[in-house]
Amino acid sequence: MAAGRAPTGPPKAVQVLEEKLATLPGVGKVTARRLAYHLLKVEASRARELAEAILQARREIHPCGICGNLAATDPCWICADPDRDRSVLCVVEDPRDLLALEKARVYRGLYHVLPCRLSPLQGFGPESLEIPRLLERLEGGDVKEVILANNPDQEGEATAGLLAEALAGKGVRVTRIARGMPAGSSIEQVQSPILADAFEGRRPLV
Ligand SMILES: [Zn+2]
Repeated sequence: MAAGRAPTGPPKAVQVLEEKLATLPGVGKVTARRLAYHLLKVEASRARELAEAILQARREIHPCGICGNLAATDPCWICADPDRDRSVLCVVEDPRDLLALEKARVYRGLYHVLPCRLSPLQGFGPESLEIPRLLERLEGGDVKEVILANNPDQEGEATAGLLAEALAGKGVRVTRIARGMPAGSSIEQVQSPILADAFEGRRPLV
């Protein structure tokens, strides 16, 4: 920095806060700055509560050892529920999709939450899907149907296609949700009646 010239931009600690906030999904530089200065202006206790809520959620919430759902217990509340239909597995890409399906109240079976979806550009190849974990769940023969509830976009369809290949010949019915889900939409965002329709209209893949 040239001698005598005042530094430009916010103080270092604010810069760091802005950078961290900008790593959140949907938060660009402008929003990151707005949030950072908001947090600096509110009462210190409110900022501390936010920080503590993040830490507490990270401490208490972990993937379910059976299905991969994020929960405070292992197994999660769905795997532990004796009233769920253990003959059906619904594969979703994210715990938020599971929550959307639960809210729609169209499904009473178990879930399998994938660690990610197929996205070679982001470094998620076929091995990232941990398909052997899904196949392990078919051992024992309780599962009769696997419903592929991947999102109806390009990456979701590619993921579902790969899973269908892996599930072929494993003695289970493989179906794909379809009708009613607009192409390019996401399970988390569509309304419950549309989700119910998509579920009831699922079609066999294998
Ligand atoms: Zn579970």
